[in-house]
Amino acid sequence: MSYDSVNPYTGELMKHFDEHSDEAMEDALSRADACFRSFGTVEARAEVLRKAAALMRERREDLARMITLEMGKLIRESRDEVELSASILDYYAEKAPKLLARRPLEESTVGEAWLELEPIGVLIGVEPWNYPFYQLVRFVGPNIAAGNTILMKHAPGVPQCAVAFEKVMQDAGAPDGAYINLFLSNDQVSRLIADPRIQGVALTGSERAGESLAAQAGKALKKSTMELGGNDAFIVMEDFDPRLAARMAAQGRMGNCGQVCVGSKRFIVVDKIADEFLAELMRLMAQYIPGNPMDESTTLGPLSSSLALDRLVEQLDIALRHGATLLMGGSRPAGPGAFLSPTILTDIDRSNPAYSQEFFGPVAMFFRAKDEDEAMKIANDSPFGLGGAICTSDPRRARRLASRLQSGMVFINYPALTAPELPFGGIKRSGYGRELSGLGIEEFVNKKMVCMV
Ligand code: NAP
Repeated sequence: MSYDSVNPYTGELMKHFDEHSDEAMEDALSRADACFRSFGTVEARAEVLRKAAALMRERREDLARMITLEMGKLIRESRDEVELSASILDYYAEKAPKLLARRPLEESTVGEAWLELEPIGVLIGVEPWNYPFYQLVRFVGPNIAAGNTILMKHAPGVPQCAVAFEKVMQDAGAPDGAYINLFLSNDQVSRLIADPRIQGVALTGSERAGESLAAQAGKALKKSTMELGGNDAFIVMEDFDPRLAARMAAQGRMGNCGQVCVGSKRFIVVDKIADEFLAELMRLMAQYIPGNPMDESTTLGPLSSSLALDRLVEQLDIALRHGATLLMGGSRPAGPGAFLSPTILTDIDRSNPAYSQEFFGPVAMFFRAKDEDEAMKIANDSPFGLGGAICTSDPRRARRLASRLQSGMVFINYPALTAPELPFGGIKRSGYGRELSGLGIEEFVNKKMVCMV
């Protein structure tokens, strides 16, 4: 395991971090456990989050540069990520006292009853590189607010971001042990999960990681949340403007160079407008031009690493060998950087492995449907269900179709997005549990029922 900070645009190794030793891990666990036992009031914890948000804004330029240098995100998208992350910390700072307040159980016929929401202890977060700060705060905001303490294992490709966020928390006045970044091997994570002082595990990552960590958490009878991959449908009905739909489709597929779990990935368009939609989508996707992600004018950044690019290209080869048609892209542009040109595949039938796989990069899959029913059938014929999108100009139809879509989130007339107050999470192989909003703070608390008879 190597925690190397490598610029995916230049290939330069910027910094190397050694893994933490078992002794350092044990020390961190004891400090997190001790901190949990005396972790201040909800107001004091909210104040830490508020200061952390302010510090992220103050350091926005440095943090944004760090994201772009470590994983290749366009610099303006990196700035947006820092702002979004700060807004999530602010959200929990402001809402926590109300979200955690005692809840009367009015329906009790036995006696006066209520719920108390109590923190449960030390948690482990295991996070991916695609949004190096946003992924952390989705877990940190609600759980620090709730009074849990956190050991964080971030992805090996973004160690400078991992350290920078720990520093934000320290500078914001988080008590010793409240939030600790650890560069761990998978084996060390397994040992932590089994340790009786750990009370919960949150993963955002791939299905492969989900299978492993959910099984380990289950074996140790620990609560877990799994935010995993997606292969989300973007469905366009014949009553919607195909050009507007194509604009949103390109935006939904190409943000963060296509490396978004909830990004639109399968475009399912009713026949009547399919040709017009596709022509416009191809035109728009061709406008994403590879370049240095630090340049304000660049429209397409590199993938997060050369390994990620190799995997994606191999996945594309397999899809094509199984009969898919390449409508555009599929090549590595000349020059430096882990780039893949914007790509569209079609003719992907059910026997093609690509039919049920997530492409984590700028690859769109295009499907035609004869009508609404066939569109919904294709959309739901997926092992995943994270955040689908439906475009129709009829609001009643939109509500009806939203109810039929097998998905943790549905967006109407817009590609999937995220906001502090909207619950985020999936079903099927996209995982379980919710982050963000009031639901996010309830995942790792004891909803203790008290009944006075
Ligand atoms: P990944 O390989 O699963 O890595 C994610 C994190 O899990 C990393 O920190 C990784 O560390 C760790 N990990 C993997 N296997 C582990 C194990 N057995 N034990 C302990 N830690 C383990 O995922 P990725 O390729 O970096 O990220 C892309 C995936 O994440 C995509 O499928 C994407 O859709 C999904 N994602 C989901 C969401 C969501 O909210 N639903 C958000 C973003 C991304 P190591 O590399 O050190 O193993």
